Amino acid sequence: MENLEDTCASLRAQIAATEAQLAGLKRDLANAEAAGKPETGSTGNTKEGLNGTGSRWPLLQEEYKRYGRQMIVSQIGLHGQLKLRAAKVLLVGAGGLGCPAAQYLAGAGVGTLGLIDGDTVEISNLHRQVLHRWKNVGKYKVDSAIESLRELNPHPTYIAHRTHLTPDEAPAIFENYDLILDCTDNPATRYLISDTAVLMGKPLISASALRTEGQLVVLNNPPRRPGDKEGGPCYRCVFPKPPPADSVVSCADGGIIGPVVGTMGVLQALEAIKVLTAPDVSPAADGTTPPRDPPILQIFSAFSNPQFRSIRLRSRRANCAVCSAEATVTLDTIASGSTDYVFFCGSANAPSLLGPGERVSPEEYRERHPPANSQANDKSVKRGSHTVIDVRDKAQFGICNLENSINIPISNFLGSAPVPMASEYETEASQLPSWLPSELASPESNDPIYVVCRLGNDSQIAVKKMKDLGLDRNGQRFIGDIRGGFRAWRDQVDPEWPEY
Ligand SMILES: [Zn+2]
Repeated sequence: MENLEDTCASLRAQIAATEAQLAGLKRDLANAEAAGKPETGSTGNTKEGLNGTGSRWPLLQEEYKRYGRQMIVSQIGLHGQLKLRAAKVLLVGAGGLGCPAAQYLAGAGVGTLGLIDGDTVEISNLHRQVLHRWKNVGKYKVDSAIESLRELNPHPTYIAHRTHLTPDEAPAIFENYDLILDCTDNPATRYLISDTAVLMGKPLISASALRTEGQLVVLNNPPRRPGDKEGGPCYRCVFPKPPPADSVVSCADGGIIGPVVGTMGVLQALEAIKVLTAPDVSPAADGTTPPRDPPILQIFSAFSNPQFRSIRLRSRRANCAVCSAEATVTLDTIASGSTDYVFFCGSANAPSLLGPGERVSPEEYRERHPPANSQANDKSVKRGSHTVIDVRDKAQFGICNLENSINIPISNFLGSAPVPMASEYETEASQLPSWLPSELASPESNDPIYVVCRLGNDSQIAVKKMKDLGLDRNGQRFIGDIRGGFRAWRDQVDPEWPEY
């Protein structure tokens, strides 16, 4: 029954989207036909109203009311409003950045808004992805977002791309838009978006956010051919090398404060409006164009004072792989896969650093060490003494933790170099890092150590580090991790464990 309702809702949304698209196409056709007539010039002078009623005003009465507050700002004006209406903007990502950006762009009257995202709405998205509603959990994000956008403003044409952006599809999708917004959260897609934007001649507004910080940069603006030094820098000019794959933290792992990513998305919308309504710059008599503001990287840090910093960027890099005269990346190399983004950025798939003997499942751990209050734990069962180290950060440990576990955040392990042991046969406690509890380092104890984290990745790193420190006494002491972390713990042992 529920499925049937979902199907109907989805079909209704698709029909509404298609109808809106059709209305937009009709409007585009009317505008194009009007532009072809000798008495009408630019879009701004179109004699036809939006609905083709032959009105003497270029906007509908309702649109004058709707956009009046921004049209009376001198930087926009009627001219800017008509430019917005003629504009086609693609947002890659309908999440924490894409939602606020799309909301403001739809509100501002951008004529065509495309959204591309292959994900569905999850309940953990709702604190920041402001277009999605609880009732739409499970629905495609693009459908959920467009549903909200249409309630806000029915005028724009909304186009749903229910897919993740791929190298072979990117050029054909970008072709239909004037401006691209990168609202994604992974490096491989960022490079793909930037490369495609440069090669297709589209300006790009790129933003990112994690935890309490965000970044924003307007790229390839003005959009010029590769090799043209007048063009704005691209993502590769600013970040020629991707960050190490194992240093890339997602919002799911690192966390994000809603208004932080919201701030960045709103700024993206603002920069988009600025780019779309920028006055046309005509070259001076000597053929030179007036100087432009230099490109800027904006850095937002919610808990710093001041919160905003601007870093002036250089123009295009002389040896950039995409936008310079020495470019090696072309639409062909992207489409053929010889520009391999996943390879370039490295794989951030879960590392498997440990062997099977170094890992126990949550169930196995529970069998080996039943809880203190369990039936099995009468005097006939000897509860082995052991240590559980939880390597999640302090905030996560504070949300939920295992009784008697010790919290040593993974940052401690990552920040310490292995310390050589005093001799081959003993570990000097004094040589171990100060954050390691002394009882663990005590040479008398060979009690096993289990390391646990959220998903079972950091725990492996911590196990390796502890072995490097010699705490396993050349294999005499078990040090291993709980495979799959607390996510698996919830599935196998404790269904009431909070899923966050
Ligand atoms: Zn470049």
